[in-house]
Amino acid sequence: MSYAMRKRVLVTGGAGFLGSHLCERLLANGHDVLCVDNFFTGTKDNIAHLLANPYFELLRHDVTFPLYLEVDEIYNLACPASPIHYQFDPVQTTKTSVHGAINMLGLAKRVKAKILQASTSEVYGDPSVHPQPEHYWGNVNPIGQRACYDEGKRCAETLFFDYRRQHGLIVKVARIFNTYGPRMHPNDGRVVSNFIMQALENRPITLYGEGTQTRSFCYVNDLIDGLLRLMNSADELAGPVNLGNPWQCTMIELAQAILDLTGSRSALVHAPLPPDDPQQRRPDIALARERLDWEPRVPLHEGLQSTIAYFEQLLRRR
Ligand code: NAD
Ligand code: UDP
Ligand code: UDP
Repeated sequence: MSYAMRKRVLVTGGAGFLGSHLCERLLANGHDVLCVDNFFTGTKDNIAHLLANPYFELLRHDVTFPLYLEVDEIYNLACPASPIHYQFDPVQTTKTSVHGAINMLGLAKRVKAKILQASTSEVYGDPSVHPQPEHYWGNVNPIGQRACYDEGKRCAETLFFDYRRQHGLIVKVARIFNTYGPRMHPNDGRVVSNFIMQALENRPITLYGEGTQTRSFCYVNDLIDGLLRLMNSADELAGPVNLGNPWQCTMIELAQAILDLTGSRSALVHAPLPPDDPQQRRPDIALARERLDWEPRVPLHEGLQSTIAYFEQLLRRR
């Protein structure tokens, strides 16, 4: 790639699950990548293979504090994403979303960088509309245990759109739905990691409630492709844009697929359904299809195979 095309790209939360895949893809596309992370949920293992690359830099930093750098693009992913992690220190979670967004927007404003926010389907809360289009305003409890994450992300979206209106920044907001793949946390309590770990260790698979609730899971490579397309879309497309897989499956079907692929002897057991557990969550991706020409391509079985291989390797290392 010519020097003129090589961009300096900042990825906050770059040592996390999605961030590490994004850093990898940006380097493969010929860019200069600066990964910023405070290692709250991310690990050096996720990016160890990138450290030898001269176009990759790693900075330990907490985004709730100001950061002065010169970059062309910013992907703001820093934020714990699973309930176990974001409820560990809820005040810090809100600070990360809100102060983190203010600092990264301030940075983008000063250096005139384009900036993308990793928002979430959780801004829709417990939705009363299925599937969820971007113009649905959501149904979020502002004082509940999930609010530090949901409301923090909603406020970050507000800041992105106010910096766009008030300061003319080029902003991009992606609303990411359930994503899975290698480098997910084995102990984050999410269904894909729980079921795979349980299957590989021949422990019972815990179906919460009847197991008839549905989710739609997007494989990480597809998701990263969507983030890159959004960042590179026309300047006037700020979003928000839903990125996720509209194909739904029940938790029983997911468990069965993982049992088949692992050949596990695990039994299926039922456990109580957590409070406020949505019966279904599914993105409407018409906007991403139309404006980004994007839709997920990796079938669940294929994505699960790579994810299982990753967890097998983790277990061998223990
Ligand atoms: P992750 O926990 O693996 O990654 C988050 C990263 O941010 C970690 O490396 C963590 O150490 C870092 N971090 C946290 N607080 C920080 C701070 N104050 N300063 C600097 N770094 C900090 O989670 P992920 O699944 O990769 O999620 C990445 C982003 O995507 C998050 O913003 C999350 O809200 C969003 N998202 C993810 C999903 C999903 O299904 N994985 C769905 C919706 C939205
Ligand atoms: N900021 C930063 N890096 C920069 C520029 C700004 O971290 O390169 C932070 C700075 O701490 C500030 C915040 O971003 O508090 C918002 O910046 P902005 O210029 O919008 O507002 P102000 O400086 O007026 O508070
Ligand atoms: N779930 C389950 N067993 C588990 C973990 C989760 O049946 O061991 C269910 C959970 O009740 C929910 C679905 O799987 O209905 C997805 O849960 P996850 O926490 O992964 O994501 P979210 O609820 O945020 O979509």
